[in-house]
Amino acid sequence: MALVNVMEGIVDEKLELMLKDEDCCKCDRCLEDMKAIALNQLPSKYVSTHNGELFSKLDALMRQSSIDINVSVTYAIKMVSEHPSHSLDEKK
Ligand SMILES: [Zn+2]
Repeated sequence: MALVNVMEGIVDEKLELMLKDEDCCKCDRCLEDMKAIALNQLPSKYVSTHNGELFSKLDALMRQSSIDINVSVTYAIKMVSEHPSHSLDEKK
């Protein structure tokens, strides 16, 4: 049995979507930092992967409250792009 945080998948998608319009570093390190910041501001919603029905319900529910998620992801992108955890010279 495995537990999955439904919020993680949603934040992943939002990040990818919103970063398309952002001119900032998108390396793995920054992506992880952004994801961590966004997830820390959002409630975790864990479901066990064997319960597919509950998973889709929660997923749909969380997507409906996407306003909060957008705010958190926007904030995370801003924070990391202004203060990346690596020097800008390392940017590839
Ligand atoms: Zn970076």
